[in-house]
Amino acid sequence: MRSKPIILKLGGSVITVKDKPLTPNMPAIRRLAREIAESQASPLIIVHGGGSYGHPIAAEYKIKEGFKSKSQMAGFSKTHNAMISLNMLVVEALLDEGLPSISLAPSSFIIARRGRIQNLYVDVVEHSVGLGFIPVLYGDAVLDYDMGFTILSGDQIASRLAIDLAAEKIIVGVDVDGLYTADPKVDRGANLITYVTVRDLEGIMGGVGGSKYIDVTGGMRGKIFELIEPIMNGIEVLILNASKPGNVYRALKGEEVIGTRIVRG
Ligand code: ADP
Repeated sequence: MRSKPIILKLGGSVITVKDKPLTPNMPAIRRLAREIAESQASPLIIVHGGGSYGHPIAAEYKIKEGFKSKSQMAGFSKTHNAMISLNMLVVEALLDEGLPSISLAPSSFIIARRGRIQNLYVDVVEHSVGLGFIPVLYGDAVLDYDMGFTILSGDQIASRLAIDLAAEKIIVGVDVDGLYTADPKVDRGANLITYVTVRDLEGIMGGVGGSKYIDVTGGMRGKIFELIEPIMNGIEVLILNASKPGNVYRALKGEEVIGTRIVRG
């Protein structure tokens, strides 16, 4: 690879309408494709979440809990198919902007063990990036050595790729301005944390000595958990609001943008 890639994670909350099953947010997808094209960021790898495509089906069939009954099998397949449908919309929007994007199905080259990535055949991603493609991956239903199958979040995949490919940075696009002292959708008094060290974050994730004033739940908690390892590997991490026009463009260009920067500390 010519230089270190940027990993752009696009949250399911940004590219889908979260409370309407199987509903894409096409204006957001098209705008993000435009911002990515205008930034001319390269090499670039995109990973997106499931939002209202992956989550409802995966939850209905309890795919994340593993293979317990044959009745889940259709659900495994339907979860994957839903993600393929969403992925196709993202890839098509990028192609419409003239970008050489290419869909890579995580379940075809990743296998998990107890819900964690065990083997990821990184050559597939590395070689496609090396040729100049922009691989577009997603959170997916994957096979699991111990559990039969499970769900891998886009956040886990993005973090692992960042480590395996020694990425320059991970840009995590969500529907809030970054990491707050509490869920900003629930607590109006929550404050944006613009800069935080892993030492503080480890406190949040249940370690010792961290700051107890930060309340991180739901999707953000999972993100922070996944991001700690790449940060410890020296990879820059920025969490920003990808629902706000211009933020992804600016971050890809390396310009100042409102968000949360997390450093090793
Ligand atoms: P995505 O689908 O975009 O990957 P999620 O919706 O799963 O993201 O997670 C992001 C959400 O996490 C935010 O929209 C917010 O409601 C929630 N959240 C919980 N705690 C926090 C916090 N301390 N700071 C920011 N967001 C938080």
